[in-house]
Amino acid sequence: MARRLRIIIIGGGIGGLAAARALALRGHEVEIHERASQLGEVGAGLQLGPNAVKALYALGLRSEVDRLCCAPESNVMLNWADGAVMHIEPFQDSFTQYGAPYLTAHRADLHGILMNAVVQNSIHLNRRCLSVESNAKNAIARFADGWQAEGDVVIGADGIHSAVRETLWGKDQPRYTHYLGWRGILPMEQALAAMGDNAKAAMHRKDVVLWRSPAGTALFYPLRAGELLNVFAGKYTDEWAEESWTVPSTHDEMIDSFEGWHPTILRALGEVREVFKWAFFDREPLTRWTQGRVSLLGDAAHPMMPTLAQGAGITIEDAFVLARCLDAQPENPAAALMAYEAERLGRASKVQIMARLQFEDNRKVPRPPPQSKTWIYEHDVTAA
Ligand SMILES: Cc1cc2nc3c(=O)[nH]c(=O)nc-3n(C[C@H](O)[C@H](O)[C@H](O)COP(=O)(O)OP(=O)(O)OC[C@H]3O[C@@H](n4cnc5c(N)ncnc54)[C@H](O)[C@@H]3O)c2cc1C
Repeated sequence: MARRLRIIIIGGGIGGLAAARALALRGHEVEIHERASQLGEVGAGLQLGPNAVKALYALGLRSEVDRLCCAPESNVMLNWADGAVMHIEPFQDSFTQYGAPYLTAHRADLHGILMNAVVQNSIHLNRRCLSVESNAKNAIARFADGWQAEGDVVIGADGIHSAVRETLWGKDQPRYTHYLGWRGILPMEQALAAMGDNAKAAMHRKDVVLWRSPAGTALFYPLRAGELLNVFAGKYTDEWAEESWTVPSTHDEMIDSFEGWHPTILRALGEVREVFKWAFFDREPLTRWTQGRVSLLGDAAHPMMPTLAQGAGITIEDAFVLARCLDAQPENPAAALMAYEAERLGRASKVQIMARLQFEDNRKVPRPPPQSKTWIYEHDVTAA
């Protein structure tokens, strides 16, 4: 019988939970250590390309994912000033073309699906990891409360400010892109009523709608089987900001930032009451993820700009591949982690760089042709 590994995962976000699910399905013992006092997600949406959906389905989560997510019809690009259609990319044939649909999800819904799919007593809360260590026999994680966890491997899935990454490779220098975004979620009917019952508003019910301006973007898409509308607006600015998704802002600050934009956008923003802003930072791809029996996954390994909407998708792919690689050679976990890194680092780094280039292209006027995402969507980590 194949050896059963003991795997310590740092971080109970989308990546840590997806990895726990993938590893448990293959019969390995998993412990998740999360610094927060309870597991949860911020109120925001995310888009899941077919590459991510294929991995989620293969984790046995198809019925829950299909029930709670939305399958938008198209990706529509509109002019910020007059609402003219600039570009339409249909999603409907995603299944035929790439083997899975293009979906949108409330982050809390996706996180909840993954959380319910892991063994509940494998999650340990209030455990802030400070450092990790690897030796010939095992890997060790040390926590702020004095606890230490030992396993065959330690996986740092502790997000953009990863303590595990810092232990392995030192502190990095994120680059502020001078782009600030505001976000919110609205009941769909409330949003449509405010936007006005016209063709533009109807589009927001069934499409991913991106309003483009040289000064920034506004992005709307349906969530939770169409009950909710995800609302985002971002702009280039000289203002300085901290790297966080949850800096409280004010309604007036948000509205003032988009003065002169199309009334449909302003009416939707006008309905958002709990206002948060976040600044976009960029980082260079790492050249290594693994040291001995410790490796990285998700934003800890490849923090990327959200312009290609692939951060969570590439993270879910990582989780699937990590489990496959560890399962393939459980007698040599360090070699298995190197195989995982070899399969993932190039693809993740390419998406990181392409997300940066798309961000830079977005500023150019007239609009450059959008990058083809076929190479991202057609990838199937479950096929190997
Ligand atoms: C504005 C924005 C929009 C986005 N839109 C999309 C999108 O449309 N599609 C998409 O695919 N992706 C999107 N992303 C990216 C996506 O959200 C991330 O890539 C994804 O959440 C990464 O998951 P993760 O588990 O690696 O990290 P996280 O979700 O950040 O989870 C890390 C976990 O580790 C915990 N933790 C941190 N430090 C420690 C520690 N020292 N000890 C213990 N626990 C710790 C945290 O509390 C957290 O629970 C977006 C990101 C942003 C900012």
